[in-house]
Amino acid sequence: MKLRFWGVRGSIPSPGPKTVRYGGNTTCLEIWTDDGELIILDAGTGIFPLAQTLLEKMPVHAHIFNTHSHWDHIQGLPFFIPLFVPGNKATIYGACDPVSGNSIEEILQVQLQYRFFPIRESELNAKIEYVSLREGESVSIGNALVTPVLMNHPVVNFGYRIDNAGKSLFFTGDHEPSYNIYEPEDDEHAMYQMLIEQKNRSILERMCGVDVLVADASYTEDEYPAKKGWGHGTFDTCIQMAEDAKVRQLFLTHHEPTRDDEALEAVFSKSLEKRTIQGCEIELAREGVLVEW
Ligand SMILES: [Zn+2]
Ligand SMILES: [Zn+2]
Repeated sequence: MKLRFWGVRGSIPSPGPKTVRYGGNTTCLEIWTDDGELIILDAGTGIFPLAQTLLEKMPVHAHIFNTHSHWDHIQGLPFFIPLFVPGNKATIYGACDPVSGNSIEEILQVQLQYRFFPIRESELNAKIEYVSLREGESVSIGNALVTPVLMNHPVVNFGYRIDNAGKSLFFTGDHEPSYNIYEPEDDEHAMYQMLIEQKNRSILERMCGVDVLVADASYTEDEYPAKKGWGHGTFDTCIQMAEDAKVRQLFLTHHEPTRDDEALEAVFSKSLEKRTIQGCEIELAREGVLVEW
């Protein structure tokens, strides 16, 4: 499997000299399976530079899996150039919104409305298909199996596990480990505690034993109390998750947009001083880096 990071920034693009080392584009991961299928995880602004590299490989069939509908994970989609060229194919996968009942197609068509984007969907010349996914129902992409896993975020967010020829990867999308919203003295506390433990366990089971985990580490432990409930993890929760799931390599991503390269490296080494995991490499995700295994 080959993985390349094209966007590792959370919430809003943050280009400029202070973020040039890790990159300012929002979430996008490019994956090539052993039998040559192209899987793209999220269509943040990183999908635009990725698209430039696909021009010479056209016609392409891109399988684009969307974790959730927040802007930083979809903003680049209308600028994915292969969509404009006849002969290309894009299959776009994502969750159905449980509140509105809207399919992934209906959700993404909002951003293509003429008032927001100057090109009409009918002018996109590639063949585009939409597939709404259900939690736990795997889809086959060539030899690979992609399994959506419900994570914890203010809107429905699927993490994805990809298994391909004995290799595996898990991407959390945006995820904050569930916590008890009740006080210990509240009647609901015990029942709720059982529910969240069950939920965290079921995520861990799906993540278990993957070679590569890419996880949302937006905040430090010190920043977290002020951001609790915003739907993002911390350096420590990601390292804990990687240890519990016995993964071989952990990439921390969704870097806080206000954190420049220096500050990012500083908080990262501080968290590694606190703890490391035997047998697991821990790195910051960085734009342009290729991981092959
Ligand atoms: Zn995000
Ligand atoms: Zn989000």
